[in-house]
Amino acid sequence: MNEIKNTIGVPFCSCTDTKCPCHPTNHDKGCVPCIAKNLKNREIPVCFFKAAGGEKPTDGWHFEDFAALISSLNGQKGL
Ligand code: SF4
Repeated sequence: MNEIKNTIGVPFCSCTDTKCPCHPTNHDKGCVPCIAKNLKNREIPVCFFKAAGGEKPTDGWHFEDFAALISSLNGQKGL
């Protein structure tokens, strides 16, 4: 995995899509453009998916996709 070096103070960003105009390496507004885009589209930022771990069971990044990931992880734990 490529190491992403943010220049404006989002060292915890785990998003590797540096072609995205909202990626912190492409502006000086930190997480704001990413969060705004995600809220508008009812999506969850990729850093949350990566922090949750596991393997995404769906293709999308919407609220429902995050819920599906968490449900799958809870299923692995027998919850
Ligand atoms: S909210 Fe977006 S920009 Fe901020 S850390 Fe997460 S993925 Fe990166």
